[in-house]
Amino acid sequence: MSGYDAVVVGAGPNGLVAANHLLDHGWSVLLLEAQAQVGGAVHSDRELDPDFVQDTFSAFYPLAAASPHLRSLGLEEHGLVWEHAPAVLGHPTPDGAWALLHRDREVSAGLLEQSAPGDGEAWLRLCAQWDRVGEHLIGALLDPFPPVRHGLGLLPRLRAAGGLSFVRTLLLPAAELGRDRFAGPGAPLLLAGNAGHADIPLDAAGSGLFALLMSMLGQSVGFPVPRGGAGELAGALARRFTSRGGELRCSAEVLGIDVADGRARGVRTADERYAVRHAVVADVAAPRLFGSLVPPAQLPSRVRRGMDRFQLDPSTVKVDWALDAPVPWAAAPPYPPGTVHVADSVDEMTQALGQVAAHAVPARPFLVAGQMTTTDATRSPAGTESMWAYTHVPQHSSRDAGDGSVRGVWDRDDCERFADRMQERLERLAPGFGSRVRARRVLGPRELEARNANLIGGAIGGGTAQLHQQLVFRPVPGLGRAETGIAGLYLGSSAAHPGGGVHGACGRNAARAAIAHARLRRLVPTGAR
Ligand SMILES: Cc1cc2nc3c(=O)[nH]c(=O)nc-3n(C[C@H](O)[C@H](O)[C@H](O)COP(=O)(O)OP(=O)(O)OC[C@H]3O[C@@H](n4cnc5c(N)ncnc54)[C@H](O)[C@@H]3O)c2cc1C
Repeated sequence: MSGYDAVVVGAGPNGLVAANHLLDHGWSVLLLEAQAQVGGAVHSDRELDPDFVQDTFSAFYPLAAASPHLRSLGLEEHGLVWEHAPAVLGHPTPDGAWALLHRDREVSAGLLEQSAPGDGEAWLRLCAQWDRVGEHLIGALLDPFPPVRHGLGLLPRLRAAGGLSFVRTLLLPAAELGRDRFAGPGAPLLLAGNAGHADIPLDAAGSGLFALLMSMLGQSVGFPVPRGGAGELAGALARRFTSRGGELRCSAEVLGIDVADGRARGVRTADERYAVRHAVVADVAAPRLFGSLVPPAQLPSRVRRGMDRFQLDPSTVKVDWALDAPVPWAAAPPYPPGTVHVADSVDEMTQALGQVAAHAVPARPFLVAGQMTTTDATRSPAGTESMWAYTHVPQHSSRDAGDGSVRGVWDRDDCERFADRMQERLERLAPGFGSRVRARRVLGPRELEARNANLIGGAIGGGTAQLHQQLVFRPVPGLGRAETGIAGLYLGSSAAHPGGGVHGACGRNAARAAIAHARLRRLVPTGAR
């Protein structure tokens, strides 16, 4: 049969990791990408000003730096260079103080100790507990479910880290975790802000584990960025793939997956049909894969039923700025951070995320922001700053919890008014911010989706990260792995376990499953067809 051993649909980080892994196994692999360039939500551009590099979507990569699936690819040999800001993360408060996470845990602890005696020691104790479990916990999260090897490794280490008492810590909601272990406001702000990168409510179990994961990654690997822009990470993945014989076609949207006798046989673009011998790996949002690329009639009924209840994560508004000068923080932090969180308090953060969950446009949005030139001097001319901030808004808004000026329909007017609201938050902490803006771009839900079809309605996580759609429930109850119920078709996007973030695990797990099944078919040729 002509064609390829595997076709990978979508060249986001998961598709690129899957394609590399399948190629390393000796398969012929075709990678098809709808957009004109690879990377998905790992992309950078110079649209605002030719002298400024903006990361169009994602920007900081602690999960990539910690992921064995990306580390094992040796991307440094393909041009990837990581850069770090002087401080990993900073959270300015209206009284002029900063909560700061430094890559050196002793420095982080020293700064926390200044704000509340005892908090430095408490931070170091938390780090020491994490040291015992971190590697296996991350391994268990990134492996296909159930994670047998890392799960078994984790059990004795949990005991050594404090047993049930530490398990309780892992289960605390993020808002409670800070209060439980610290006296001052600094550590709770750092933890809750890190939890706010996912859409798990700060007062629900699961958010504390995410807070710890991100905070401790900040201590161990930092929040690195690729020198030159996020696109350099995707570029290194693509260069590795093509330099080893992989075939890549951009501007090639896959419109359908051919299924016959319960097996994926190939894919279709507008003008080509590609047959596959072993596998189609889809780095595609679950609602698109199981609703349009594969017609519902061909789906197993449990997948069809499960997709009826599939829950997206909230929508997103992202603002990029080219600044003529660095951010004029009212009080300069002792170590300039790359990532910045903006909220007056943990309570305010909880309230803003609660408003999103209650379908209200937040009055005082919680911002995740990035000072990119501070982190990587190549992003814009010396003495300037390439800056961004994003925040979440409801997928369907019923009201504006603010001054009523945003209708929640996310046309240009809504986007600009809401961007003003976001910018105002920075202006209060950094008076004069607005006067330094050389150019601004607002990407609302529609613009995000137009640039990457996987970002449905501006959802950036491939589906909610809440517990009811994790592990065996992701993307639908009973899947939990890359298998889709259609032989030879694998879900390799962030809609699969373990979900959003640039770690490549969804792609790698899909590739592994495809290889394992092909091996099985060779051993049992007729039964597996
Ligand atoms: C604004 C924003 C900020 C973020 N910040 C961070 C961050 O700082 N750190 C972090 O770790 N993560 C971050 N994330 C999340 C992270 O970027 C995603 O979880 C990750 O990119 C998911 O990878 P993926 O390969 O599954 O999908 P994507 O990156 O979305 O890529 C999917 C690709 O598939 C292509 N595609 C889809 N359908 C088809 C089709 N039918 N035919 C051909 N091609 C198709 C798309 O064009 C796209 O290129 C952010 C995301 C966004 C949007």
